Amino acid sequence: MDELDRILSDLDLPVRVRQVELDAALGEILAEAVEADRDIPPFDRVCMDGYALRWDEWTAGRREFTVSGFSPAGAERHPGPLPGSCVEVMTGAPSPVGCDLVVRVEDAHPRGKAVLLDPSKVVRGQNLAWRGSDARAGKPLLEEGRRLGPAEIGVLASVGARLVPVRSRHQIRVVCTGDELVDVAKAPLAHQIRRSNDRFLTSALAARGQGAIPSTHLPDDPELLEAGLADLFGQADLLLVAGGVSASQRDFVPGVLEVLGCRCLVHGVAQKPGKPLWVGTGPRGQIVFALPGNPVAVAACFARYVLGLLHRHDPLIRSARLEAPITGLASMTRFVAAHLRDDGAGGVVARESPGNGSGDFLHLAGAEGFLEIPPGEGLVTGSAARFWPW
Ligand code: AMP
Ligand code: MG
Repeated sequence: MDELDRILSDLDLPVRVRQVELDAALGEILAEAVEADRDIPPFDRVCMDGYALRWDEWTAGRREFTVSGFSPAGAERHPGPLPGSCVEVMTGAPSPVGCDLVVRVEDAHPRGKAVLLDPSKVVRGQNLAWRGSDARAGKPLLEEGRRLGPAEIGVLASVGARLVPVRSRHQIRVVCTGDELVDVAKAPLAHQIRRSNDRFLTSALAARGQGAIPSTHLPDDPELLEAGLADLFGQADLLLVAGGVSASQRDFVPGVLEVLGCRCLVHGVAQKPGKPLWVGTGPRGQIVFALPGNPVAVAACFARYVLGLLHRHDPLIRSARLEAPITGLASMTRFVAAHLRDDGAGGVVARESPGNGSGDFLHLAGAEGFLEIPPGEGLVTGSAARFWPW
């Protein structure tokens, strides 16, 4: 498994850039660093409603100031108070010329047309944010690769980024193979089952911000598999094939991938479920995961390896303490579907979701991912385990 991690760390999905409107940028990943287009704040900004005055007049002993003007937010910079006076200012206004502090309304006492200031509340520079004190023009504000949340969108708006360069979503395609599988819309015959792996994969990808991923069903027929996969190689950077990678005489996927010019990097991992996992690269360097079709194996391999790859820069893995012991396998890693809950003290507790093996997709509902139980006897109650959410 560590070997597979090493192999995967050498693989890269191509990064393509597109420009989106700022209003469509939420949740996207920034493709280029963004700098301050001017000083922030762009002028010496008043931070409190109050009175702006000159520090030198204060230090010369004046305590009572006539109010000789008003400067609201949104108005051009006020030319400054007359000698012996102050300017009433509003939060967000530029500091009047010559003023270097603001006394809050709460700390000033009206006296006719003047205000008397509370001496304990006067310090030079107070209640002003100097031009450029948050960032100088040209300072990098958001680095490439940052996922854009509300705060980042606010920063982008503040620097006038009407169009935002973001990483294009990866071109991912999902394929389910198997003659026994029918679409959800069709009534299955007695020997058939409804396809569910494709829905698991596409909805898990959508939940991770990958958008609507197309999926295809191909039969257990080498020629049709070859034609179908060849077509998808023309569209995909990342191909997820489910089913047909094990040892039966109808498991054609690895052979067909080879015929199509793929390079096998791994076929078989010491884990349960998901042992027959096949990983390789396609003719144009595409990344191919051929997942064993059992639904629990699909989910485990997806959470552990596919999301591991897609979230290389913002890993989803967590650590959780076991609520009850979980047995291990002598020479294989086990993946155990589990629910997580907060323990109320900053930690996370995991509870196994009991099921009937790797074909039992029912026990995945309600779980959020898999605990990784290293080879060996297992883990006792309270021990920490790695948890891979899907
Ligand atoms: P395979 O890896 O193709 O041998 O499939 C292993 C098991 O998973 C078989 O019992 C399949 O019927 C089942 N299976 C394969 N694909 C799906 C799917 N898309 N949805 C549900 N079960 C599947
Ligand atoms: Mg099959």
